[in-house]
Amino acid sequence: MTELDVSWQRAAARLLDDLVAFEGACFVAPVPATPVVAPASDELSRFRAEICQCSRCALAAGRQHFVFGTGDPRARLMFVGEAPGADEDRVGEPFVGAAGQLLTRIIEAMGLSRDQVYICNVVKCRPPGNREPQADEVAACAPYLQRQVELVAPRLIVALGRTAAAAMLQTDAALHALRGRLHSFAGVPVLVTYHPAALLRHPEWKRPTWEDVKWARRELDGVVL
Ligand code: SF4
Repeated sequence: MTELDVSWQRAAARLLDDLVAFEGACFVAPVPATPVVAPASDELSRFRAEICQCSRCALAAGRQHFVFGTGDPRARLMFVGEAPGADEDRVGEPFVGAAGQLLTRIIEAMGLSRDQVYICNVVKCRPPGNREPQADEVAACAPYLQRQVELVAPRLIVALGRTAAAAMLQTDAALHALRGRLHSFAGVPVLVTYHPAALLRHPEWKRPTWEDVKWARRELDGVVL
């Protein structure tokens, strides 16, 4: 067993403890005072600049910030969630609230940091009242996600929650029916798991999420099961 294996297993054990012990209490996340823009490659930065004033759907009217994505523009692992919430809309960065803190812990348990992965959402503007994005909004924003995936070219995408999975995989299937096998989006393998916000409400989903996280790590390491 290599040093990396040992370190990964220790981190993994810590996350499992965290997930199992996590009581689902909402806590206030510290958020940066100014909008954060992804430290993207030139191409990704150019693409962000091209679309950041987008008004292709009704969500443009209510946004404080366009929330493009954050992380390594050449990441091997990409997380795709549903849409910005209130914290994300205020800050301009995805996954900065309570669910974002849990996602950070999941990433760290995989032996990675937020800077080493890429994180974004299916839609880039906040739906009012944190409702699910509607089909026309997802359809309007989908080409942007597709282009982000092409530019980042990750080895694996983890779809966080049913809305992200449905948007990428063009399916109405329930999330539990999509877990446990690899799908594909823009030529990249996609693994489906629960959204961190759902784990805050449903602690019983932490253990299956943990199984998905372990699977994602093995996929990244090239382990064929
Ligand atoms: S959600 Fe997407 S398509 Fe709609 S306005 Fe925002 S960037 Fe444009």
